[in-house]
Amino acid sequence: MRCPFCSADDDKVVDSRPADDAAAVRRRRECLGCGRRFTTHERVEELPLVVAKRSGDLVPFEPLKLRTGIEHAVAGSAIDDAAIDALAHEVEEKARAAGPEVRSETIGLAVLEGLRQLDLVSYMRFASVYKGFDTVDDFEAELVELQKSTEPKGRLA
Ligand SMILES: [Zn+2]
Repeated sequence: MRCPFCSADDDKVVDSRPADDAAAVRRRRECLGCGRRFTTHERVEELPLVVAKRSGDLVPFEPLKLRTGIEHAVAGSAIDDAAIDALAHEVEEKARAAGPEVRSETIGLAVLEGLRQLDLVSYMRFASVYKGFDTVDDFEAELVELQKSTEPKGRLA
């Protein structure tokens, strides 16, 4: 670390302690050139999250894009901004946990999972874009799947 006084780049650490709620380490250093002391702060570099698209392209993860996608899916529903924020945040957390490289499918599925619990219409709308349904048949097949899995158990036919 270059000494701010004499520009020598040889020093020894004389003290090291956690700072900023342990998110950083504060180090007291002593310059071996001039003997003066200075302080450095070291923190973990935030890892960039990269999304692997179906085409194979790698693009940087954009939280705003994710939020906009969810927003479009829930437009006109009773889902409010706070719920959208919560879902976007939850999906981002999942993506970061799976990172530093995450497949776009993984993100899409996490959104679908969240929407499915929030609002069925929004879920279908997002699914149509995300899963690329072209026909009503595709939609209906998905609906049938959905009803199967949400049907109360033990009901008489
Ligand atoms: Zn120095």
